[in-house]
Amino acid sequence: MKKALFALVCIAPLLLCRCSTTYELKSQTFFAMNTFVTVSTAKESTAEEIKALTDKYEKLFSRTLPQSEISILNNDGSLVAKDDTLLLLDKAVQVAKATDGAYNPCMGSVVSLWDISSGKNNVPDSEAVAKALVGTSFENLCIDDNGVSLLQRGTQIDLGGIAKGYALDKAYDKARELGEENFCISFGGNVGVHGSSPSSLKTDKTGWNVGITNPFDKEKTLGTLLMTEGFISVSGAYERYFKKDGKIYHHIFDPKTGYPSESDIACACVVSTDAALGDALSTAMFVMGSDRAREFYKSGQYDFDMILILNDKSILVSDELVPLFSLSDTENFKVKQI
Ligand code: AMP
Ligand code: MG
Repeated sequence: MKKALFALVCIAPLLLCRCSTTYELKSQTFFAMNTFVTVSTAKESTAEEIKALTDKYEKLFSRTLPQSEISILNNDGSLVAKDDTLLLLDKAVQVAKATDGAYNPCMGSVVSLWDISSGKNNVPDSEAVAKALVGTSFENLCIDDNGVSLLQRGTQIDLGGIAKGYALDKAYDKARELGEENFCISFGGNVGVHGSSPSSLKTDKTGWNVGITNPFDKEKTLGTLLMTEGFISVSGAYERYFKKDGKIYHHIFDPKTGYPSESDIACACVVSTDAALGDALSTAMFVMGSDRAREFYKSGQYDFDMILILNDKSILVSDELVPLFSLSDTENFKVKQI
């Protein structure tokens, strides 16, 4: 990743020459996998293909569609899974191990108990939370030659923290396969870009200026990250939440407590060349909090970069991203290098 970003900086002048003529992109937005998906590509037919792909992955990975592979696994406790499901579950288990369960795909019962986006705004009592936590150890998800099995009664898989990233990986590959050079695809907080945006061609910084939402005022952009290739995944408390008695209850849970995670991070952004990995890692960094997240980043277990926006309004930016990140709200926020 570090090498890739270095290359991005170096090839920027070349892109400037190559892309001196402007071009138009067509954007299509549709709702899938519980979020808005926007595809900006040269050909409309590319968006149609991506829509069909997304539909296919939603039918495999959804926890709420009764016929999905994940629903079958949750109901039956075992599954002879299709390759995509196997690959994604395997990646989910790897990240769960690496992050010591901060990212945990076995949190289905907790996610369903809180049902954050349902509009019910219900805070479950501590007994119900304790009950939902039974069987949530990620070690209960077992993948071997016979397929996938859940080792404890009550374990429920939820891939909400990784499946959009996986679908984005596949959408990105599809766009490249169809000859798209300059495009941007977003699955809610997961964005993939390639080449440059038409508007950037009028500047000396070609690429995509990906806006990063101010987690304290989601109508505003806090800054931008210049990218020409790859993915950014954002996990923030502001994305899905309800407020009750002045307290915010959001959709990212601490697997140790079963309650919405209360770390010092307001928003975790992970930049990577693997969207599913980036998706799971941004969820994990959010749960870990800045000290553990920094330690994890520095351990070099995975090749990624990150921006952490903390509740005290400091922004921790990993080395490689420093020249690519532009802070617009310099009055309220302060950038620090990791
Ligand atoms: P994201 O927005 O990518 O950070 O993912 C949040 C979604 O992942 C939630 O809506 C849940 O479906 C699921 N989730 C919540 N907490 C966790 C966690 N600690 N580990 C894995 N998935 C989680
Ligand atoms: Mg995620």
